[in-house]
Amino acid sequence: MIIVIKKGAEPAQVERLKELLRSRNIAPHESVGSLQTIIGCVGDVAHLDPGLIEALDVVESVQRIQEPYKAANRKFHPDDSVVDCGGVKIGGGHFSVIAGPCSVESEEQIVGVAKQVKAAGATMLRGGAFKPRTSPYAFQGLGKEGLDMLSAAKKETGLPIVTELMDFKDVEHFNDVDVIQIGARNMQNFNLLKEVGAYTKKPILLKRGMSATLQELLMSAEYVMASGNPNVILCERGIRTFETALRNTLDLGVVTLLHRLSHLPVVVDPSHATGHAFMVDSVAVAATAIGADGLIVEVHNDPAHAKCDGAQSQTPAMFAKTMARIAKIRSAL
Ligand code: PEP
Ligand code: MN
Repeated sequence: MIIVIKKGAEPAQVERLKELLRSRNIAPHESVGSLQTIIGCVGDVAHLDPGLIEALDVVESVQRIQEPYKAANRKFHPDDSVVDCGGVKIGGGHFSVIAGPCSVESEEQIVGVAKQVKAAGATMLRGGAFKPRTSPYAFQGLGKEGLDMLSAAKKETGLPIVTELMDFKDVEHFNDVDVIQIGARNMQNFNLLKEVGAYTKKPILLKRGMSATLQELLMSAEYVMASGNPNVILCERGIRTFETALRNTLDLGVVTLLHRLSHLPVVVDPSHATGHAFMVDSVAVAATAIGADGLIVEVHNDPAHAKCDGAQSQTPAMFAKTMARIAKIRSAL
């Protein structure tokens, strides 16, 4: 249930309404927007009479909502959320590009790529230290050492760091990380979502699971938010379909739909969505044109010898060209 507050309502009246809701075991979430103030009711509203609430002086109207996600729901929070990622904003008109290798391989590599993507206009650095790999025999990432190398790259370039957390026990090493990525394979690891949401208010980049519906993605965001962290960024990275020509099938239209359903920023990953470096440029441009709040792009200094995802990694030169095209699209829009 959503309660729309009348314009010009006294704060004390709104507080009394919130008190009334709390006395009925309903947590009121107030959202003061540019046009409207609303109160989202989280809890069992079945026993609350909407007519009674609507009759109150401060109340403009009451809406029942059907969706099971509340905190992530745009109805609860009409304005776009702007998420601060170590000083770089994303959402609500702030566009941000996260770039870097799939995995951190050495300090020289990550610092070098960080400098190159920064020169091309990237605003954040990505690099996996804990890697979810299909094969247990494949490179698993450098772990804590990889995080230290990311820190060195941050020190050198000032770019905030985005990196994946797979196991909550490793979070103690993430102090210098600016955005915690929860990967596609862990999107429905509900314990991890609850733990990380309760532990930190650092932004969480939540990637859509490869067979997850939009509602499931939003419910996973809800887990993080209900645990105490409102700073979630959604990521569309392609889903698995019958098509095998591409690594995944990019569901680009969801950017528009997610913006309608939720106030959270939405970024697109053209690298995992396609699996082919030659496609990343056009898909990144398309994602920008459709209105994504940002991109996450894999860039490697030597893709042919990458320890992970070389085939889909752009070289720094390719990335610079893509950034120039993105800038044109953004100014045209
Ligand atoms: C990644 O970003 O390198 C990654 C593993 O992504 P995803 O979880 O989307 O597969
Ligand atoms: Mn990857």
